[in-house]
Amino acid sequence: MDKPPLKFYNTLSRQKEIFTPIDPNKVGLYSCGPTVYDYAHIGNMRSFILSDMVRRTLEWNNYEVNQVINITDVGHLTNDTEDTGEDKVERQARASGQTVAELTKPFIDQFFQDLNSLNIKTTGTAFPKATDYITDQINLIQTLETKGFTYQTSDGIYFDTSKYEKYSELGHLNLDAQNKDSRHANSTKKKQPADFALWKFSDETTARLQEWESPWGIGFPGWHIECSAMSMKLLGNHIDIHTGGEDHVAVHHSNERAQSESATSETFVNYWLHNAFITVGGKDKMAKSADNFYTVTDLAAKGWPALAYRYLVLTAHYRSPLNFSEESITAAKNTLINLNQEIFSYPEDGDILTDYLEKFTEYINDDMGTPRAIALIHEILSTTFKTADKRATIEKFDEVLGILDENLINKTDDIIPEEIESLADDRDIARERGDWDQADLIRQQIELKGYTIKDTPNGRKISHIDYINLMLYYNM
Ligand code: AMP
Ligand code: ZN
Repeated sequence: MDKPPLKFYNTLSRQKEIFTPIDPNKVGLYSCGPTVYDYAHIGNMRSFILSDMVRRTLEWNNYEVNQVINITDVGHLTNDTEDTGEDKVERQARASGQTVAELTKPFIDQFFQDLNSLNIKTTGTAFPKATDYITDQINLIQTLETKGFTYQTSDGIYFDTSKYEKYSELGHLNLDAQNKDSRHANSTKKKQPADFALWKFSDETTARLQEWESPWGIGFPGWHIECSAMSMKLLGNHIDIHTGGEDHVAVHHSNERAQSESATSETFVNYWLHNAFITVGGKDKMAKSADNFYTVTDLAAKGWPALAYRYLVLTAHYRSPLNFSEESITAAKNTLINLNQEIFSYPEDGDILTDYLEKFTEYINDDMGTPRAIALIHEILSTTFKTADKRATIEKFDEVLGILDENLINKTDDIIPEEIESLADDRDIARERGDWDQADLIRQQIELKGYTIKDTPNGRKISHIDYINLMLYYNM
């Protein structure tokens, strides 16, 4: 049977489109990376899981992928939609009395570790830093200036969005409404509210930690120009796929597209892909500024392996918001451990179940339908096929999903989070003083967090609850 065609949902057209590469064998993929003034949180990591899934899906379809994920270490302002406020990296370095390199190094190192523990492929991927491409950014701004797309204000060089006809397309922006909005008119020196900084002048009175000579004086690049410059330099003027979180659609990606296409008169990107947010409490975006975030390290400290988070993310479609909670990550952890335990208990060297393989490709090629692909795994496990064949088939799927890991079985099984141990201690104390109601209440709390507690002649025994079907139920 022929493979079903690979389709991606393109934010530009607001529909699923059949993927046709520019070069028949090699696909260019650019993903907006972290701003390294702090540790990346697991909301950010969803966007890199998306990038990884795009890469793995392309590889599943026999394409070679040229992948770039940038590291933002200059120009990302605290109010990035208005081009005002402070440079996030510069501000943090000053506050901690460090150089930018000193500040960013641990965050960058941790970022790579997080990618690794989330099973995000990095072989062959380029991770360019914005500060290593300043000349390319200046050259690009000069091209835009020569072509008449820029103007100067007292604080920098700006891109004139009224000169790029297609500006509103990607974000479905209502520019007339923006232009009439008096809040913008009062707060900006820009000609149109949507215009954005390409180059910002340094303040004459204070030297910045990071500033460069340019044809317009000493200063630093705006945030958006780095992605255009690095994408064009490393992957060419016209690339296949660009990804990021959905907050990038209306501003960052609209701006990247405007400046790139204005400079080259070519299409910049064929397919724009965006992930929805990780939320907390059912509605709020997980964000550094909201102080409602977890990092991968935080998860590990509570006994949730990074792969449990990857599994959780894949149980939802990437374009649907996903709520993160202690209950959902605990359920994901337990399901994933059971899954790994079962698969690695089966014999090796089985045959792949071809009907299931075809179904898997159909789901994955349909805009990366990971919830259905994961449900298929559980369906296979419930069949009466030979266990070796089940294992072989699911291991084949794992080339795309990346959720199998033999270490997970031994390692996490005996890790009981500190929080649970401490609740169990409280329960012991309540039992000692004969407060059975209180002991029962604590046991319920422990169960709510995904663990059971049994009293044996050798003392208490804590283990995790089997959630396999519960998880499927949640996501179907
Ligand atoms: P930043 O480090 O802020 O530049 O963001 C890195 C990536 O994470 C971008 O693609 C953002 O769109 C994405 N992102 C930020 N917050 C979330 C969230 N809560 N859920 C999913 N993606 C996010
Ligand atoms: Zn970007």
